[in-house]
Amino acid sequence: MSCDNYIVLSYPITATTPQYGQERSDITIEPRKQIQNGDSSNTFRVCMENHIGTHIDFPKHFQSNGKSVLDYEWEELIFTEPYLCDVNLESGQLLQADMMEKEIPDKTDILLIRSGWSKKRSDKVYTTENPGISLEFAHHIRNNYPSIRAIGFDFVSATSFLNREIGRDVHRILLNDGNPILIIEDMNLDLFKEENRHNYIVAVFPYWKLEIDSSPCMVLAVRNHSK
Ligand SMILES: [Zn+2]
Repeated sequence: MSCDNYIVLSYPITATTPQYGQERSDITIEPRKQIQNGDSSNTFRVCMENHIGTHIDFPKHFQSNGKSVLDYEWEELIFTEPYLCDVNLESGQLLQADMMEKEIPDKTDILLIRSGWSKKRSDKVYTTENPGISLEFAHHIRNNYPSIRAIGFDFVSATSFLNREIGRDVHRILLNDGNPILIIEDMNLDLFKEENRHNYIVAVFPYWKLEIDSSPCMVLAVRNHSK
């Protein structure tokens, strides 16, 4: 969904939202108060893991004392220098620095990787054969782009389900509490265009402001009238 002033870069959570490594998500929706049972209103209890759908990982994901969602101010989740890279990735393939066709601009604060995997989002392979980020690429952006504060992509996890050991180390490198690069997984980048980066800011809104390691989130690219 988009208009001139904003582009939605996240997916809503639905009963069929894909979940890393699983054939289907384990979201449960349980009726609580129900008018048909004589209650005054309808309410539901929704139960789900926090790493589902478009979500943002914080340092606490891999460090017990790392910063949680609660430790971040809203302003820290607003990015004024987005940069989008198109890189075709195959099943289980790990993103390497030399796959980038163009140089990442130095001032980039959020790096968006579009692999084309969104086309497979309703297939089982989306969650079981997803591409991922290599250790080399994690070191590359950490060492060479100090302005990058977040990385987002259109596949289900930085960890390829076919390469889980490496993915854990990639998370540790990126989410290092000293200077974390937050990770936004399962983004909808279909409508963002490379040229948008000059005109839009990207704002991330975690659903839950809790002392937990990750939260599903809405991500909006909003036209930046000050540029
Ligand atoms: Zn996650």
